[in-house]
Amino acid sequence: MIRFILLSILLTLLFRAISRLWTGIVQGMQGPDTYRRAGGRAGATHVPQRGVQMARDPICGTFVVPERSLAISGSNGERTWFCSATCRDQYVASRAAAPRTAPQGRTA
Ligand SMILES: [Zn+2]
Repeated sequence: MIRFILLSILLTLLFRAISRLWTGIVQGMQGPDTYRRAGGRAGATHVPQRGVQMARDPICGTFVVPERSLAISGSNGERTWFCSATCRDQYVASRAAAPRTAPQGRTA
């Protein structure tokens, strides 16, 4: 009897896995249009648009999306983007300390 129960549970799980896989395959073949029809722009907010230009954080080297990151304007109007306030503060501090891009030395 217990064998039968275990077998039916196993079959149920297997069936679920296969149907999920099948749904994924069908959605993948239909393409991203189904997402737009089904959920409006719900998926569009996650994925940045292709061809978006990334900016490089000069402190840690992380590439950031300019719209979503912190920025400061330089004296010549050039903008610099940062991943976090920490990097921005470090950059501002290093520029204030030395106008040239000298490596930061910590004084104890
Ligand atoms: Zn950074």
